[in-house]
Amino acid sequence: MRVLIVEDELRMASLIRRGLLREGLAADVAGSGEEALVFAGAHEYDAVVLDVLLPGMNGFETCGRLRSEGVWTPVLMLTARDAVEDRVAGLDSGADDYLVKPFAFAELLARLRALVRRGEPERPSVLEVGDLSLDPATRRVRRGASEIELSAKEFALLEAFMRRQGIVLSRFDLLEHAWDFAYENRSNIVDVYVRRLRAKIDEPFGCHSLETVRGAGYRFRAQAAA
Ligand code: CA
Repeated sequence: MRVLIVEDELRMASLIRRGLLREGLAADVAGSGEEALVFAGAHEYDAVVLDVLLPGMNGFETCGRLRSEGVWTPVLMLTARDAVEDRVAGLDSGADDYLVKPFAFAELLARLRALVRRGEPERPSVLEVGDLSLDPATRRVRRGASEIELSAKEFALLEAFMRRQGIVLSRFDLLEHAWDFAYENRSNIVDVYVRRLRAKIDEPFGCHSLETVRGAGYRFRAQAAA
């Protein structure tokens, strides 16, 4: 397993690198987002540890650039504060998971291993609920004839809903299915994303497919028309 560490603080970078080497993993360090793009273009990495605070291009921009250049290596984002906005920005830029600084090295290692274990995503067929369709292979979403643009995590959340239509899902269920990692229940990140999904897949079409079930969570309904 070969890991790319993107961090400008030398102390932190070498701490992570030494830890990974101790575990028998290979690790390279890039000191900037620009350098990370060069490294990722030259080597096949199994995972990227990407700090948000970087000189020049920040971690969000770097992650977005990696994805737009076709690099789908799992990215573990390191954020300085536990802010919902940071998580949303990180996940939207295409990061797969995040860790708040300061963290325990054992946790970084566990998250990295989990990301790599997940492997290549499967390619299932198009999901259809009412006039809403979602194609996991091409990542296209349509309501009737209208194409809908979703961010990576909005897409993941909608996919989680569509696979379990009619079932009440708690925020925790949704975090598990759409984010693949456990989260504290008090987190309101799911509510933020549900609001954004509604604004894209329901409101412009006069639909109410994403129901709030008070005290329980959310339910995606097959009958979408208002
Ligand atoms: Ca940094």
